[in-house]
Amino acid sequence: MPNILVTGGAGYIGSHTVAALSAAGYSPVIVDNFSNSQESVITRLEKITGAQIPFYNADVRDGAALDAVFSQYSFAAAIHFAGLKAVGESVAEPLRYYEHNLAATMSLLAAMQKHGVKSLIFSSSATVYREDDPVPYVESGELGCSNPYGWTKLFSEQIIRDVAAATPGFSAVLLRYFNPIGAHSSGLIGEEPQGVPNNLLPYVTQVAAGIRPQLSVFGNDYPTPDGTCIRDYIHVSDLARAHALALGFAEKNTGATAINIGTGRGYSVLEVVAAFERATGVSLPYRVTARRPGDIPEYFANPELAREKLGFAAELGIEEMCRDAWRFEQGRKD
Ligand code: NAD
Ligand code: UDP
Repeated sequence: MPNILVTGGAGYIGSHTVAALSAAGYSPVIVDNFSNSQESVITRLEKITGAQIPFYNADVRDGAALDAVFSQYSFAAAIHFAGLKAVGESVAEPLRYYEHNLAATMSLLAAMQKHGVKSLIFSSSATVYREDDPVPYVESGELGCSNPYGWTKLFSEQIIRDVAAATPGFSAVLLRYFNPIGAHSSGLIGEEPQGVPNNLLPYVTQVAAGIRPQLSVFGNDYPTPDGTCIRDYIHVSDLARAHALALGFAEKNTGATAINIGTGRGYSVLEVVAAFERATGVSLPYRVTARRPGDIPEYFANPELAREKLGFAAELGIEEMCRDAWRFEQGRKD
């Protein structure tokens, strides 16, 4: 079975991808410094996959540590999740974000180059599109970001493109994720934010669990049908599956290719609240508050390129996303 290096493989999307890779016949090897995840995720992944998952507690920016891992395995490809991801924090601490995320990308590329690994899947984001791009966002749209986190994604994309151009036979797939939510059907892994959640679904599940009194809906005066913001939510297990498909694409193609991973369908905040209530039978107290600075009224993916290049289409709907997120939250309380 081909060995795949997964940086950040203990995190939210990384752990689901490790499960999907294992199901697709790959042997994932995790490098994670557990700065935003728990080591117990590895045991839970072993339960899900029935396989032993090798992992290394190391910082991707540590070239010597990466070198040691690359010396131990022959990797067919690397998937790069490791990085900092809080938009607000990146505005307050831009240097930390640029240093961390760009150093992580470059350190991984250097190790790949040294060890002759020529296939990379990178976690990019819909945040690389300009806010005023027409929806649905297409890969050929105008790029530009409104916060340092987004720029670290766009600069990383550029660095990877340059390395791909300079390295014969190199293949990079830049997956631009829309809004991943939900959890693995086993209920064993899911999103585990530290402190007060910033994102909608983790906040919703914590309100449903009684950990927080009510949801604040950030603004209902946007130019959308119900006045609340619209996003393209995608089940994290669908997103994870896209990575396994991207590995297959990278095997057969060279150069760098950016591909949206979304469903192509947007839901408003109030539609998500209603879907959650339908899927779980739990009623969700909420109140409308002021807009959150920086939020864009509406965006969603054009998912056609993913269909064409990867044969990928999301399969799980919004109620399944809510149901699985809720199952995971309930398991966490036990
Ligand atoms: P996460 O924080 O749950 O996972 C990231 C993992 O990387 C964590 O386990 C963390 O401990 C680890 N890590 C961080 N820095 C590291 C380093 N220097 N060395 C080793 N390990 C390190 O985040 P996630 O939601 O799973 O996101 C994964 C990737 O996808 C990130 O690059 C993120 O920017 C990107 N992304 C996420 C979303 C989203 O909504 N969650 C959307 C678009 C893109
Ligand atoms: N949102 C909200 N209340 C919350 C968290 C988020 O109303 O407690 C809204 C937010 O304004 C946005 C949508 O939910 O319109 C998705 O936000 P999230 O932070 O999950 O993802 P983003 O689209 O910002 O990446």
